[in-house]
Amino acid sequence: MKNETPRTDQHIEQGIGISSGIAIGPAYIIDQHGVPVPEYEIPAAKIDKELKRFHSAIAKTQRQLGQLKQKAESLPAGAEDIILLLEAYKGMLSGSRLVRGVEELIREDHINAEAAIQRQIGAIKASFAGMDDPYLAARAADVGDVGVRLIRHLLQQHYNPFADVPQGSVIVAEEITPADTAMMNPDFVAGFVTVLGGAEGHAAIMARALGWPAVSGIAGLMQGLTAGDIVIIDGREGKIIMRPDAATLQHYRQELAKKQREDKKLRTLKDVAPVTTDGTTITLQANLELPRDVEAAIEAGAAGVGLLRTEFQFMNRPDLPDEDEQYEALKKLIHDLDGRPITIRTLDVGGEKLATALGAATGDSVNPALGLRAIRLGLKEPKLLDTQLAAILRASVHGPVRILIPMVSSVAQMKQVREHVLQVERRLQRRGIKVPNIPPLGAMIEIPAAALAADALAKVCDFFAIGSNDLTQYTLAIDRGDERVADLYDPFHPAVLRLIQFTAAAAWRANIPVSLCGEVAGDRRATALLLGLGLREFSMGPLRLPAVKQEILQLSMPQAVAFAEAIMAKSDEADIRALLEQGVGTDSMVKDKKKRS
Ligand code: PEP
Ligand code: MG
Repeated sequence: MKNETPRTDQHIEQGIGISSGIAIGPAYIIDQHGVPVPEYEIPAAKIDKELKRFHSAIAKTQRQLGQLKQKAESLPAGAEDIILLLEAYKGMLSGSRLVRGVEELIREDHINAEAAIQRQIGAIKASFAGMDDPYLAARAADVGDVGVRLIRHLLQQHYNPFADVPQGSVIVAEEITPADTAMMNPDFVAGFVTVLGGAEGHAAIMARALGWPAVSGIAGLMQGLTAGDIVIIDGREGKIIMRPDAATLQHYRQELAKKQREDKKLRTLKDVAPVTTDGTTITLQANLELPRDVEAAIEAGAAGVGLLRTEFQFMNRPDLPDEDEQYEALKKLIHDLDGRPITIRTLDVGGEKLATALGAATGDSVNPALGLRAIRLGLKEPKLLDTQLAAILRASVHGPVRILIPMVSSVAQMKQVREHVLQVERRLQRRGIKVPNIPPLGAMIEIPAAALAADALAKVCDFFAIGSNDLTQYTLAIDRGDERVADLYDPFHPAVLRLIQFTAAAAWRANIPVSLCGEVAGDRRATALLLGLGLREFSMGPLRLPAVKQEILQLSMPQAVAFAEAIMAKSDEADIRALLEQGVGTDSMVKDKKKRS
């Protein structure tokens, strides 16, 4: 492969840009194979639970195959074979020899579902072997493929398919989960392209945090590329160029060099305070997905961590971290932050964010984004919540810590959580562990109900953090991780902006701090608008911080207020987008202001 001249039959595909920037590199294709499978005994009392786990994996695999089929149907031509194959795969998941055999093995041999699948695939393949028929040989391979899909859903990938990625690779996969992203080595991956996935899903957020250009929604991806083909990702335009010709390659190499020069310039702002031209100081903090991001946060000049997503502690493992393990991880982070404050969010799993060990607890919701997730799960599984709270309280003696609660929808929930915090503190005291200052307790405002009840919530919260990602998802009823409705996902929709404005005002009235930590915080086009809506604190992916700072250094508060007023006077999203693209101080904005006065 290495010595071959790369193919240059250039082909361009349009998808959705989920993380901007340009990446150029050889394709590293993540296929479904080579999953190491653990085998263990299931006690008789847990057989039903294991069968349920198997059926839940079937449901997830069916859903994934359905989505892939829909994608294939959108291909212009030549996808009939893929569609037929995906239909055949779906067929293998109901009442088939594969499914029946696995059920029997779990029930009779008392083994875990993954191992049962592997054994049953082996048995089916063996019965095909010896039949000298290429068609049947292909069907045996298909059964294997379906089995591996099931196993991947069961394991939720706590094996590492990215272990051997050569440096500079562009990862090509049907789908990338946040857990996958956590396993990729940032020094080796140039960017990624997928068939499935929306712009605000967590894999996208992580790509942006790591500065990886990424594009999703490319239907013919897996069929269009061979391992080692050169791929260009144009994250801003949302397109990929497969096997580029020499002229295209040169053009993109120049663009990449230009971007690198700009980034270098922005890095010189590291120690410059984010103050507007008329003297208002803005707080810029970093969102952390993984502890390794802390270095980038400090490098970017972040004043602290405005959002620590603690899900990383629960990913890619079959068990739950205990209190000590969580405490040690938090203590290390606090230590690395060297006195800078950190806002630690309690576990926010459920929906698209999954934790293997919690599979049974989060269960199968018909509507996962509206189901048992985040603090709802914590309050239903108090041991889970209390263990994490104990770890946070213990860690809080090492530096300035705040506790943030995700997916809050009512005052009662916050009161309940505060009770938990106090109870955990008393329990720690009984164990001889003193927590002299209980950290401030705040709510994520990311459900429209919480935003609309912000005045009441402010009375039971020490601070607010607005989660514009979920606030957009729930206000507009758009799944943030679904590429098919990605064009409707709009954090600048007037309804979302009004909820942000209302929340900020409620916090000001109650005199509690309010920050915004959704993805728009890191979008420099939104900075003036958000300042104008009353926000003074932002938390974002570390790599996006310098550009936002540069924006702040060029703005005055009256300008920001006028800009926000002009935008809030619009009811059409397209007009809002146009104003955002034009930026502060544009003719249309001035005209608008004159018209109103
Ligand atoms: C949000 O919803 O805006 C947010 C910051 O939380 P997450 O993206 O982790 O759901
Ligand atoms: Mg959220």
